[in-house]
Amino acid sequence: MLPAVIYGGVVVPELPEVETTRQGLAPHLAGATVIGIVIRQPRLRWPIPDNLPERINGLPVLSLTRRAKYLLMEFDTGTLLLHLGMSGSLRILQNDTPPEKHDHFDLLLDNGKLMRLRDPRRFGAILWQEGNITTHPLLAKLGPEPLEANFNADYFYQSSRGRNVPVKQFIMDNQVVVGVGNIYASEALFSAGIAPQIKAGNLSLARCTKLVEVIRATLREAINAGGSTLRDFVNASGNPGYFQQEHRVYGRAGEPCRLCSHPVKQLKQGQRSSFYCEHCQK
Ligand SMILES: [Zn+2]
Repeated sequence: MLPAVIYGGVVVPELPEVETTRQGLAPHLAGATVIGIVIRQPRLRWPIPDNLPERINGLPVLSLTRRAKYLLMEFDTGTLLLHLGMSGSLRILQNDTPPEKHDHFDLLLDNGKLMRLRDPRRFGAILWQEGNITTHPLLAKLGPEPLEANFNADYFYQSSRGRNVPVKQFIMDNQVVVGVGNIYASEALFSAGIAPQIKAGNLSLARCTKLVEVIRATLREAINAGGSTLRDFVNASGNPGYFQQEHRVYGRAGEPCRLCSHPVKQLKQGQRSSFYCEHCQK
């Protein structure tokens, strides 16, 4: 297995990692009540609200869902919104586990456990919203979830008409579809045989259909691969437990294409590197 995206030794959580985190945490949170909060470092991407303990102490956790790369912990009166940023990870631990460096936040539960955020780079977020979370400014303008039915070929075809932006940037636009990060964009375009520079508006309905299919398959495959690491969510030490996947083109500039053996090319698009095979992607 090869490393996934790593910046300064840190694996950046993308949608599959966030969904795997959700699946790992949810069973420990279901039915549990919050009995305390520890904020060791409030300065994340935005400050952790200092009235958070008054808001959620004593409340049962109703559910843990996900929207794009946000985890949404629902309570009777509102929602705790969590984002893992560049380097964040969440773990379930026994509530007497001593904190280590970068362990900024604990949510203590009445089942003897705690949920702990570790985030060395502090680009993550923990925010609170009363009432309806879907109107939160971070969520209100998001496009469809890639794995839900409203992300489909017709939607993709219609929304790409008249768009001159390269398809790679189009599929990474959160207002078009959420959660297609840089790695998965390169990988999906390779699987679809579509060159990353093609203008979104020039894709035929058949190519839109194929692309929607492979985006969904690529993300599903990554989430399924994450299932084997779920035990890491109850492990106190070590790495965040994000799975590391072998990529087909991402990060492989100059190496032979896995289909045709021509060297994989690299290209800058909107400050991000795209990886593709000139021979297999048109
Ligand atoms: Zn190739």
